[in-house]
Amino acid sequence: MDEILAINGGKPVREKPLLSAYPGASLYGEEEKKALMEVVDRKSPFRYYGFDVANKVAAFEKMLRDKTGSKYALGVTSGTAALVVAMKALGIGPGDKVIVPSNTFLATPGAVITAGAVPVFADVDDSMNINPTEIERLCDSYTKAVITVPILGNPCEMDKITAAAKKCNIAVIEDIAQSSGSKYKGRYCGSFGDVGCFSLQMNKILTTGDGGAIITNNDIVYERAVRYHDQGMFREREGFLSMNAEDDIFVGQNYRMSELTGAVALEQLKKLDYIIENLRRIKKIIKDQIKDIDGISFRRIVDEDGDTGGTLFMMLPDEKLSVKFSEALTAENISCGRLYGGRPVYTLPQIFNQKTVDRNGFPFNQFSEKIEYTMGMCPYVEEHLPKNATIMLNPLLTEKDTEDIVKGIRKVAKYIL
Ligand SMILES: *Cc1c(COP(=O)(O)O)cnc(C)c1O
Repeated sequence: MDEILAINGGKPVREKPLLSAYPGASLYGEEEKKALMEVVDRKSPFRYYGFDVANKVAAFEKMLRDKTGSKYALGVTSGTAALVVAMKALGIGPGDKVIVPSNTFLATPGAVITAGAVPVFADVDDSMNINPTEIERLCDSYTKAVITVPILGNPCEMDKITAAAKKCNIAVIEDIAQSSGSKYKGRYCGSFGDVGCFSLQMNKILTTGDGGAIITNNDIVYERAVRYHDQGMFREREGFLSMNAEDDIFVGQNYRMSELTGAVALEQLKKLDYIIENLRRIKKIIKDQIKDIDGISFRRIVDEDGDTGGTLFMMLPDEKLSVKFSEALTAENISCGRLYGGRPVYTLPQIFNQKTVDRNGFPFNQFSEKIEYTMGMCPYVEEHLPKNATIMLNPLLTEKDTEDIVKGIRKVAKYIL
């Protein structure tokens, strides 16, 4: 044996860790700098008025509309804000249920609770995204929407999902926070449902540090979203409150995107195709060279041409091996993690025990029957999510980097699997 695993004191496959997988941030350059300085030079960081507004947020919204083929886009402060704005624009609140996949980030059910509704958890299938058959099973007279989450770049089966939602007469919200640029059958994810929600947080495909956006084709939903995100206001073109809207007024929030954020968001969006092209190319090279390894399988990619390519999501024979495998690979300086620690989102204690910030367990106290979450309620995700070992890819990885990733995976697999 000439090779010893780095975790056992051997020489790692690489001397230095791989470039961290912050795809958008790693491409920050002169473009972002110039756009940002334009806003600073104009001393106009607010989108609706100032000394000389550059209309960066509006330009970002226009490009997002054009790119996704949506009638409307609205910049907001985060992906979580996008979800809350989407639900409020759709009229969802206390006494309502929203179907949420069991494999997602805390923000998805968290936004439902913030909107005053409660999440109902759907199991996933071998794509590790929501199983479309769950929608009809879970739908009852309280259910108002389903939120789909294409996990780490893998599009959801939008034709089955929209058909099921139509049958149940509920809205579809697409939480594509992790999957900007993903497509299903040639069409951008986010544009199938009633509302699509984007995130521009640091870990996402495009980033402004924090930020987000929604897209929709629905006139009323858009108008309600614009007003909800802006204190419920009606603004004239020059940016001042209109005084003749008494019939439709409501109280809103402030989730407005600043011009500083909009400037960077626009430049990032221009780089989306480049990022996705490179991620797909890199992922394909790696996947092709490890697909023969016994003991490593992959989640089903719903549409290979629509996957963002940002994540190598491996499934190992069991949880123990996935922990060992990811630790050993990380020791080889190929950072490998386990998505959500292998845990369905409803097992997080604040969700499982329904610990909200409000009194008397609001909004869970809005139903005559008790809402309960139990272990075993989504058997597929509980069995399979713990087995994941995940490598996040950066669009700037070199040929040598991809060779190292393959070498590392083969080395660790040989000893551990
Ligand atoms: C990151 C993320 C969010 C939240 O986005 P923020 O911009 O961080 O608020 C929501 N849903 C999913 C699936 C995410 O991964």
